[in-house]
Amino acid sequence: MKTKFKKLTKKETLGTIQSDFITLTSHQLRTPLSAMKWLLELLKEGDTANLTKKQKSYINKIYISNERMIALVNDLLEVTRLESGENKLMLQPIDLTTIIRSLIREKEMVIRKKRLKITFTVEREPFPLVRTEATKIKQAVGNIVNNAILYTPDNGNILVELKRQDGTVLGTVRDSGVGIPKDQQGQVFDKFFRGNNILSFETTGTGLGLFITKAFIEASGGKIWFNSEEGKGTTFYFTLPIAE
Ligand code: ADP
Repeated sequence: MKTKFKKLTKKETLGTIQSDFITLTSHQLRTPLSAMKWLLELLKEGDTANLTKKQKSYINKIYISNERMIALVNDLLEVTRLESGENKLMLQPIDLTTIIRSLIREKEMVIRKKRLKITFTVEREPFPLVRTEATKIKQAVGNIVNNAILYTPDNGNILVELKRQDGTVLGTVRDSGVGIPKDQQGQVFDKFFRGNNILSFETTGTGLGLFITKAFIEASGGKIWFNSEEGKGTTFYFTLPIAE
């Protein structure tokens, strides 16, 4: 009993030190990263007539890397917040159809570039509002849709669907992408998980997206699950309670 108690305390202490460290460094990184973003925007939007094509493309690449670092820092902060139990959402009636339409619109460039066929269907409009927090659910559903886009090769198909089911809303995101290897499917919602079949072609992810997505959906009173076959595609499902 005694040893068990000691072990747990050490683990807990380590966990606290670790999350304090992540919070501190992430906050410290935010300011210089925002400053870089601001200066890069000035460079991008300013008079670039004297710059060569190559120099402009360097600025663009630095800008994209900077954005990626900001997203990583934000995800790390979100994860430490969630792990310390701060997972309460401001639940309100939200129109999911508008959120999904704008998510797809925001991804229009990459959808066109990859020549993906993306279909969004809503069962019988007007569709009921769901009870959740708008920014959080946009991030959660955005992660699922972005993954479908990211992990589906050119010319693939993506279907996003909203239905009513047993007093809840059921969302489905189906893709014809690379799928998730069977032996790794149990880890999909773990922090930092990245499938070994995507590492060679998609190097930018963090493996934090679905951990955060699951936390937001569950904090709204919903559920999330998936099925997937490697080389064939993946379907993510989520439910959200209908707003009274
Ligand atoms: P990230 O996409 O940043 O790596 P996520 O937490 O969003 O992190 O996803 C974790 C992992 O789950 C991905 O790296 C990928 O291996 C796998 N995955 C998620 N969605 C899909 C999908 N639609 N198709 C194939 N693999 C997926």
